[in-house]
Amino acid sequence: MRIVKTFAECRSLASDSTGLVPTLGFVHEGHLDLMSRCRRENDLVISSLFVNPLQFGDPADFDAYPRKFDRDAGLMEAADVDVLFAPSLEEMYPVEPVTAVVVKGITESMEGAHRPGHFEGVATVVTKLLAGIQPDRAYFGKKDAQQLTMVTRMVPDLSLPVEIVACPTVREADGLALSSRNVRLSDQARRLAVGLSEGLFAAADLVASGERDGAAIERTVTAQLAGMSAEYVTLADRASAEPIVQLDRPAFLAAAVEVGGVRLIDNVWLETDGSSDRGRRLDETSILYGEAH
Ligand code: AMP
Repeated sequence: MRIVKTFAECRSLASDSTGLVPTLGFVHEGHLDLMSRCRRENDLVISSLFVNPLQFGDPADFDAYPRKFDRDAGLMEAADVDVLFAPSLEEMYPVEPVTAVVVKGITESMEGAHRPGHFEGVATVVTKLLAGIQPDRAYFGKKDAQQLTMVTRMVPDLSLPVEIVACPTVREADGLALSSRNVRLSDQARRLAVGLSEGLFAAADLVASGERDGAAIERTVTAQLAGMSAEYVTLADRASAEPIVQLDRPAFLAAAVEVGGVRLIDNVWLETDGSSDRGRRLDETSILYGEAH
């Protein structure tokens, strides 16, 4: 695996079939799944590692984000990544940017409403990665459903010559969605946090049994969030990320909570026929906690 610091070097290595997996690092099995799918579908696999200050509204959240470069590089190498793109702040933002990518509508509810500026930061950095590296395919997780809707829509809107590939959410054995932030959960918060996925699964069960009313579906999640403070529980149209009151089109049911000072998000994908995509569970505890951090 080559560790590359500049866009120009990345482009010089690109082949006719190049896949990109953008990450903020502190790699877990969710990221590794994206990388292995990317490996299967491309000759060259590039994974980027950049903790993007533009997408963190709160500087304390940016500072507290877990970082361990050597650990991540080792895991990426083991996942058969060809190129680790780790740009410096100066490479990514050589001059104070006056250009930003703003995606309307899709970014206004849920994460957008609770994290002002977040999606503008994500949309801008994703556009820069796609423009600077020019991959043929880019891999994103369903775990960040609203982000995925946004990135998918940016492709036709900006005429980006890339295919966006959506990958399922990877979970701990008890259902908790993997997130780099999970390493900051205390034992007590970790025990409580499982309520988030349990609530979403209970709602998916309700949908399977015939419920289509948005408020009833959302209430089922809220009822399971003991010990956590819910920021939102929202049934949303998967194409527009707009809240909907009835499950009458492809949707996702998303929630954000704060537990023990850590902010977590999760979702399940719901279909009008009552089926759902809840992601996949690991058999064992995630590699996230394998070492001191
Ligand atoms: P992050 O480093 O958290 O920005 O995530 C990088 C990519 O991995 C994004 O496309 C995420 O949606 C995806 N991702 C994060 N967590 C998971 C997970 N538990 N399962 C699947 N994909 C994930």
